[in-house]
Amino acid sequence: MNTVTTRLCIVGGGPAGMMAGLLFARAGIETVVLEKHADFLRDFRGDTIHPSTLDLMDELGFTERFRTLPQRRVEHLSGVVGGRSYRVADFSRLPTRNRFLSFMPQWDFLDFLADEAGRYPAFRLIRRTEARDLIEADGQVLGVRAEGPDGPVEIRSDLVLCADGRHSRMRDRAGFTPRAFGAPIDVLWFRLSRRDGDPEAAAGRFGPGRILITLDRGDAWQCAYVVPKGGDAALRAKGLPAFRDAVAQIAPFLADRTGEIADWDAVKLLTVTVDRLERWHRPGLLCIGDAAHAMSPVGGVGINLAIQDAVAAANLLAGPLRAGPVAEADLARVQGRRMFPMRATQALQRVIQSRVIAASLEADAPFRAPLALRILDAVPLLQVLPARMIGMGVRPEHVRVSARA
Ligand SMILES: Cc1cc2nc3c(=O)[nH]c(=O)nc-3n(C[C@H](O)[C@H](O)[C@H](O)COP(=O)(O)OP(=O)(O)OC[C@H]3O[C@@H](n4cnc5c(N)ncnc54)[C@H](O)[C@@H]3O)c2cc1C
Repeated sequence: MNTVTTRLCIVGGGPAGMMAGLLFARAGIETVVLEKHADFLRDFRGDTIHPSTLDLMDELGFTERFRTLPQRRVEHLSGVVGGRSYRVADFSRLPTRNRFLSFMPQWDFLDFLADEAGRYPAFRLIRRTEARDLIEADGQVLGVRAEGPDGPVEIRSDLVLCADGRHSRMRDRAGFTPRAFGAPIDVLWFRLSRRDGDPEAAAGRFGPGRILITLDRGDAWQCAYVVPKGGDAALRAKGLPAFRDAVAQIAPFLADRTGEIADWDAVKLLTVTVDRLERWHRPGLLCIGDAAHAMSPVGGVGINLAIQDAVAAANLLAGPLRAGPVAEADLARVQGRRMFPMRATQALQRVIQSRVIAASLEADAPFRAPLALRILDAVPLLQVLPARMIGMGVRPEHVRVSARA
């Protein structure tokens, strides 16, 4: 049995785990991140980097290097109803330094964080290694048992951060069960080419019985087709030509290329889950990111919240960790700080899911744009409110912990 001893073991190299790994290692805390995959190359993941995360890149001194990554800047979001576009969010008015969303493949962002973290001697990323179980004694978590390419490995640490996503195995092993809120929708993801003359902005298109979100990925549109919960099977049963027609009806500018959806393998189902843990910690263990709270795709804020959790954890725990094992009260402070922003965001997402999204999917005839959309479009100053909620969130975090060799 191969044994690694470290101060902090982070399970999962997603946005939460990589950001936490970077910040703790930068603070001089010996950190091991376990990632079960060999690379970060997973398609149809969240690809939005929000102003609050861009601000963090500046705070960490990454501005110049971050700008060299391929990315698309988006300053406005719109909703299209009955063929008319309504502007709903204006990021250019945000009271912050980075007044836009950056669309960037998540693997580029994670590779970037891994490169930056790798500059610190205290950082170690172990890929192709899957955490399988916790090491415990007398109710205290002492590390994890994992399986790597060369067989079993034990990571012994003062603290385990579970950042292993919405299907977190470590959360289950810790005895935690998330409270699920149900979601009335699922999302089908696919890609269509982007051509000269296409509309510029990222937009949500609403029509009777269908919604399509189009995200600008440079040479392609990443498309999210929203279906009622469990509606995927019925949609597939109607056949691919019917699906292509439905896409063309809701976004006529895509009609000339829906044939690019060659088969159903090109259409990936995201089962939407909204859940959260009521308790994120046990002695020696803390859950963050999707492992603590799976967010609805409304607003595309999952990455942002995962990163904010990581920053709060580093701010509150780096000091205590330097001194030795962390008291559970310190872990509770992280949950205490992040619980309200997460709850407020989920509450808003659930209202939008049921009032706007489900209502559109249930409609069987063309409908007027909701009043809120019309007001936002008519009063540009108000567009900063949704931009603030999406781009900065409730209680944005800042890097408070300083770098140490
Ligand atoms: C299809 C899709 C589209 C989305 N679109 C957006 C969007 O546009 N904007 C947005 O903000 N959010 C979006 N999200 C949500 C966003 O991706 C998540 O909220 C965010 O990635 C959560 O980060 P995380 O680090 O907590 O978890 P994850 O990103 O899920 O990362 C968890 C990591 O842990 C690894 N792992 C899991 N189990 C183990 C184990 N036992 N041992 C070792 N490693 C393990 C996984 O391989 C993974 O790399 C989307 C999600 C999906 C699925």
